[in-house]
Amino acid sequence: MPKLNENYLNLKESYLFSEIAHRVNAYTAAHPDKKVIRLGIGDVTLPIGSEVISQLHKGVDALSKAETFKGYGPEQGYDFLREAIVSYYQQNGVAIEANEVFVSDGAKSDTGNITDLFDKDNIILIPDPVYPVYVDTNIMNGRHITYIDATIENNFLPMPDHNSHADIIYICSPNNPTGAAYNKEQLKEWVDYALANNAVILYDSAYECFITDPSLPRSIFAIEGAKKCAIEFCSLSKTAGFTGTRCGYTIVPMNLKFTTSNGSNLSINAMWNRRQTTKFNGVSYIVQKGAAAVFSPEGMAQCKKNIQYYQGNAQIIADSLAKKGIRYFGGVNSPYIWFECPNQMDSWEFFDYLLNHAQVVGTPGAGFGKNGQKFFRLTSFGNHENTIEAMKRMESLF
Ligand SMILES: *Cc1c(COP(=O)(O)O)cnc(C)c1O
Repeated sequence: MPKLNENYLNLKESYLFSEIAHRVNAYTAAHPDKKVIRLGIGDVTLPIGSEVISQLHKGVDALSKAETFKGYGPEQGYDFLREAIVSYYQQNGVAIEANEVFVSDGAKSDTGNITDLFDKDNIILIPDPVYPVYVDTNIMNGRHITYIDATIENNFLPMPDHNSHADIIYICSPNNPTGAAYNKEQLKEWVDYALANNAVILYDSAYECFITDPSLPRSIFAIEGAKKCAIEFCSLSKTAGFTGTRCGYTIVPMNLKFTTSNGSNLSINAMWNRRQTTKFNGVSYIVQKGAAAVFSPEGMAQCKKNIQYYQGNAQIIADSLAKKGIRYFGGVNSPYIWFECPNQMDSWEFFDYLLNHAQVVGTPGAGFGKNGQKFFRLTSFGNHENTIEAMKRMESLF
């Protein structure tokens, strides 16, 4: 009999979205005449732009002829896509090299798989609340996690404790679920802390395309020194509607090196390259053709149009909460709006209240960590008219 990885027993039941579905289904079964509006989803809803679609078609056609057929591609991604990503960074004022870019099937895989590179014995900081992948992948490997509190007091942007040491630091900015985004000074403090502690920052930048404030960094590599201490995870899921198509990319700087126990230097780029070439065979040519089109002027303009649609929804939600005097976070520079549940309700209590009295579905903050217990997340990924209607109904309750 195999001995199992019993660290899996330490995972919390991932019941958030199934519990939401269960409660919504029970409600609709009992009230078939009511129109339920879903503002809980973390998935995009608008179709992919025509420029990307046309390149996806070209990718398919290339496979139909012997002269252009593609088999296995480079595990790290085709040069045409890696170069397109390099110029995208350049447009944002950040210089990276193509061999620092690793194309993948998404940021979820990479943020999870990165644990392969690090020993069990590390001090790992993870914010609470946060995207559950960081926590669960570390628990699966039997690692101890030190949580850093993201609370209303620190505007959901925890800062380093200079009196305590860390080895691995997870940062997600703009944040899921809180919508909070670090500014340059704050990120600089994290980078300086990481450098002083010889730590690595695992920076999830999945929502960089939602940043509208030009003073906010869109990459941790906009911060001096970050190339010596950070890995950046990016995704086309929210940027370009690739949640179902699947493509992301991770930047691992050439300068990122740490000392091994025998005193030699080990390059994280070389380790990740070894990991990926061993366990991953690359993203399909078709998808990479489409992904490269995201970074073309036409493709990017179409992505921005979709993002602006979602930003319009975020504005509606934010305005409505402001009108009711409900303190919220995010909504700008993020597709998420995070607010304190009115009348001291806890997040599941508020979930039921909102469903029963306004037929609006959101996401209880408790699903993202203990600090989310009194908070609630609404998303801007829904339909515009429905978002207006949902907020009208919510306003009438308070
Ligand atoms: C949506 C999301 C991602 C994207 O994951 P993919 O696997 O690329 O779809 C990454 N990080 C966070 C925090 C997210 O919310």
